[in-house]
Amino acid sequence: MTFREVADGVFVRRHASLDLNCGLVVGEDACLVVDTRSDLGEAADLAAAVRRVTPHPWMVVDTHAHYDHCFGNAAFRPATVWGSRGCAADLLATGEAQRAARVAELLAGGDAEAAERVRRAPLDPPDALVDQVAVLDVGGREVVLRHLGRGHTGHDLVVEVEDGVVFAGDLVEEGGPPAFEDAFPAEWPATLGRLHALARGPVVPGHGAVVDAAFVGAQREELLAVLSSLRAGRLDAGPYDAATMRVAASRLSGG
Ligand SMILES: [Zn+2]
Repeated sequence: MTFREVADGVFVRRHASLDLNCGLVVGEDACLVVDTRSDLGEAADLAAAVRRVTPHPWMVVDTHAHYDHCFGNAAFRPATVWGSRGCAADLLATGEAQRAARVAELLAGGDAEAAERVRRAPLDPPDALVDQVAVLDVGGREVVLRHLGRGHTGHDLVVEVEDGVVFAGDLVEEGGPPAFEDAFPAEWPATLGRLHALARGPVVPGHGAVVDAAFVGAQREELLAVLSSLRAGRLDAGPYDAATMRVAASRLSGG
């Protein structure tokens, strides 16, 4: 599987596993990898794909602390790993529970090999921590990391490349409903509104096909519809399936 160039020197690798997207921004003498997959085997495969694009030293950013976006971090050390302060704290707090759940899920699906890889993935949280915003120099290219507010989690980071590509992490979801397990449904629409205002070109969701600002605007409308359905106590009236709406409802008080 290869990286696809979505803008000059900005690449996306969409994986069969979980339909996960990872990103790559290539500058003059450095590059930035966005998210690191679920275990060291998957991360080594990602690192090899990066090396087929560029020989430059990498730095890494995690969009958030869910295992599929950051359990591969250790494969990229000793590089700097950027992430929000909340991402680092959340990975330490929830990493073992996430691991147990994912291992059980893989075993139930008959994939003992992947389960073993996830079991052995070191928890290696980001060490370059962002509160609201950080501006990176990636080999002469400006890349801005922003926490735009709570949404898919309490600590999502958005990665904005100077000439218009935005990596949205799981704040934006294509190909399935957004995931509410750790979400803040009352705040997610406003956060997506801020993301919508930033989006001028390709928007790379955490999973699925690359989208655009119009898609982000439409997803914000759906999240507003979720919120009004929940507040009206009408889980059947929302834009998503019943299971998704139930999880969203369980998170409303938490938001
Ligand atoms: Zn996630």
